[in-house]
Amino acid sequence: MSGLVWAAGLGLVGAGEPAAAEPAAADANRQELRTLAEEAGRELEGAPALEVVRWAVERFGDRFCVTSSMADAVLVHLVSRVAPGVDVVFLDTGLHFPETLRVRDQVSRTMPVNVRSIRPRLTVGQQDGEYGPRLFHRSPDDCCQLRKVESLERALVGYDAWATGLRRDDSPSRANTPVVTFDTRRGKVKVNPIAAWTQADVETYISQWDVPVNELFGRAYSSVGCWPCTRRTRAGEDARAGRWAMFEKAECGLHG
Ligand code: SF4
Repeated sequence: MSGLVWAAGLGLVGAGEPAAAEPAAADANRQELRTLAEEAGRELEGAPALEVVRWAVERFGDRFCVTSSMADAVLVHLVSRVAPGVDVVFLDTGLHFPETLRVRDQVSRTMPVNVRSIRPRLTVGQQDGEYGPRLFHRSPDDCCQLRKVESLERALVGYDAWATGLRRDDSPSRANTPVVTFDTRRGKVKVNPIAAWTQADVETYISQWDVPVNELFGRAYSSVGCWPCTRRTRAGEDARAGRWAMFEKAECGLHG
């Protein structure tokens, strides 16, 4: 018999090795990341976005990545100034506007980053076959789970920290977004360098650095997601009012 034995939940381990070693190490790593995130969240509150990015890059190196919806490339640009070659995760749901894919392609072509387009396990056609057509109009939470949340979880394997472009002024539900926090669900550090930026700060950065922006913003869209769940907004509406407008839903589940 080989010197390897099966241990529940662990896969193959060497005979005689303590089966609990791997989970114990994972628990310790998780606790260390949590402590680190909580301390950094306090210490970096109020710090410039670049300083928050520098902290993450110095602390995590290539175990840090950026996520982007490609509504604009502000966060990607900011991080690329500190960490050229950084991985950028884009969740390619198969239901994006062509304009969004154009931003993704432009970022990939013109910026010093490594764009990783992550697709869901099921194509849109396979999802229609398994769950019925237009799941997004019947059960958007399930659709987001299948096309975004599961993809993100798969994409983040191998990283200890991820950056997002969440901002406090995006919506009331994001008003308390910390600059660094612990993502309990995924056991990773979540870095939100531009959490305190206003829309005016974003626009200033875009024009200062000539950053790629989704063309839909020039056509009365104020937040851009998948085409079936995004509509134009009217004057006076919340910036995210055009997302899942037919439902009591404000977030896709990536940040919950
Ligand atoms: S935003 Fe809409 S289409 Fe995109 S994954 Fe969520 S429910 Fe599906």
